[in-house]
Amino acid sequence: MARIPIDIKSGSLASVAPNETIVGIDLGTTHSLIAYLDAQTRKPVCLAEHGQRTLVPSIVYFTDEGAIQVGDPARLHLIDAPERTIYSVKRLMGKSFREVQPLESYFGYRLSAQEGSELVRIRVGDRYYTPIELSAFILQELKSRAERILNRPVRKAVITVPAYFNDAQRQATRDAGKLAGLEVLRIINEPTAAALAYGLDKNPDDEIIAVYDLGGGTFDISLLRISNGIFEVLATHGDTFLGGDDFDRALVDFWLSRSADKQEYHNNRRLMQELRLKAEEVKIFLSSHEHYQGSFHGLDLTVSRADFEQETRHLIERTLHGVQLALRDAGLKPNQIHHVVLVGGATRMPMVKKAVTDFFGRLPHDQLNPDEVVALGAAIQADVLAGNQKDILLLDVTPLSLGIETLGELMDVLIPRNSRIPTAASRIYTTSRDGQTQLRISVYQGERDLVKDNRKLAEFILKNIPPMPAGLPKVEITFTLNADGILQVRARELRSGMEQAIEVKPQYGLTSEQIEQMLADSLAHAREDLAQRTLRETITEAQQLITSTEKFLVAAKDLLSEQEIQTITHMVKQLRSALDDSDADRIRILMQELNEYASPFAEQLMNQTLKAALEIKKTP
Ligand code: AMP
Repeated sequence: MARIPIDIKSGSLASVAPNETIVGIDLGTTHSLIAYLDAQTRKPVCLAEHGQRTLVPSIVYFTDEGAIQVGDPARLHLIDAPERTIYSVKRLMGKSFREVQPLESYFGYRLSAQEGSELVRIRVGDRYYTPIELSAFILQELKSRAERILNRPVRKAVITVPAYFNDAQRQATRDAGKLAGLEVLRIINEPTAAALAYGLDKNPDDEIIAVYDLGGGTFDISLLRISNGIFEVLATHGDTFLGGDDFDRALVDFWLSRSADKQEYHNNRRLMQELRLKAEEVKIFLSSHEHYQGSFHGLDLTVSRADFEQETRHLIERTLHGVQLALRDAGLKPNQIHHVVLVGGATRMPMVKKAVTDFFGRLPHDQLNPDEVVALGAAIQADVLAGNQKDILLLDVTPLSLGIETLGELMDVLIPRNSRIPTAASRIYTTSRDGQTQLRISVYQGERDLVKDNRKLAEFILKNIPPMPAGLPKVEITFTLNADGILQVRARELRSGMEQAIEVKPQYGLTSEQIEQMLADSLAHAREDLAQRTLRETITEAQQLITSTEKFLVAAKDLLSEQEIQTITHMVKQLRSALDDSDADRIRILMQELNEYASPFAEQLMNQTLKAALEIKKTP
């Protein structure tokens, strides 16, 4: 059975041992942080090793010997080894190569669309990494940092993502967590986390919150509604290439505009880079001083805060324009906002605070460190999930994921583990063969990607589907898990109304040790599971291509020469034999070759069929 993706919504709450530490992680574009809730003070704290910063640069460096460094040590290599120093990987999460190709010049490293899918890969030497793997390196570093400081194992986390992240980007973030050996209990929105850090969920009334987030390289505005402790995103806007860096560049331009030897700087990349770093320093200085005086290689760097503000006013205007668009989308006026929250290091600039205050007509929340506020909120959410916040009711949850088998013997999860019960989810599937009148529905429980590694709960057959070409029937499968933990699975073909249902008790016969073991296995096998899933999906795609090509060979036999038929037949044969070797790369290449060779003919055939159809229409 093949899957037609639709969104499912379901809340999730964890069942964990009391007092277990669950961390909150802000996995950022430029910096990442890890936080936890201190049991004594009951306050969230960002973790830093002695004498170091809480911020970990989201940068991964691969040494010549193939070792991996993350954070500050990696940052040192941005200039001397740009092709092996990977930054901004968050911008690539869940993206296809085609989507990010126009940005290639922004990255100092190589991108490609290799192996098994359309998704983008990063090339380092002769190896390819996915954004998920690179994010996992950063998460691993944060995890071990927390373990060193807290001196206990850390296995569970809440991770934040931007409110505008789609399902693929959220799933990629989850996968990165799993690969790093973390069980991701929840993915929450960054603005929601920031609001939690300020305790804005505690107010009894319905309120609207604006979160203004100006980081190093990105700007986001989110409008949230909070009612009864539940956050809803009303609108988001932003600019993925507008942040503190632009203020640094504006300052550099200002200095150079007064200098006679600007060309010298423009011709020297390293000097320019150093000047930019100097500009960042001066920008930060001007947040607490009115005037800066100094020079750099003979260049006069004297600048007043007023000059700086004048030179960067247009950048602030751009952010306010984004705020206006978000308000328009939500149908709100500035005076309807109850709280404004500042996030991101660049909001420390006094002019940002002033502009935001003037715009909304109220003072923003800015008492917490704007770099840390998202991670702090994530730690609060983590603590709620750990069951430590007594004023929050913990509901019953399902301890293991529930799903069905799809093409390639893969597990397709409908109700993720930790979903609060009662809950329901449905998704639409279709047939994989022409004229298929039956669909076997196998229900599984577990966290592994291949169904054979999970526990089979039930199986039934939906019969009497009207014969149609593959992919046309729409079979809606609904899982309903009631408060007693009984699962009802219902399958319904939407065109014919054919329907069938069964009931199972998922937890029946499972001890809590067995459940723990199933969870531990899924973490231990995360990497190979991911590889297996990719391979299976590639094989399924290749099988579909073989079937459609064979159909095409029959339909297009008058269009093709003997030579062309032989070539296509040979390519299909090669592809089929590659399937037996389970080599995802080779299957990909052969599929691409076959597609490239056959698609012009397929187009011709389609045009002919279309023309013939139009001819018939014309004759009365
Ligand atoms: P983030 O990505 O949220 O850590 O934001 C980092 C950005 O904030 C960088 O562009 C920093 O230069 C900037 N930043 C940090 N502290 C200050 C400050 N005191 N004044 C102005 N900008 C700052």
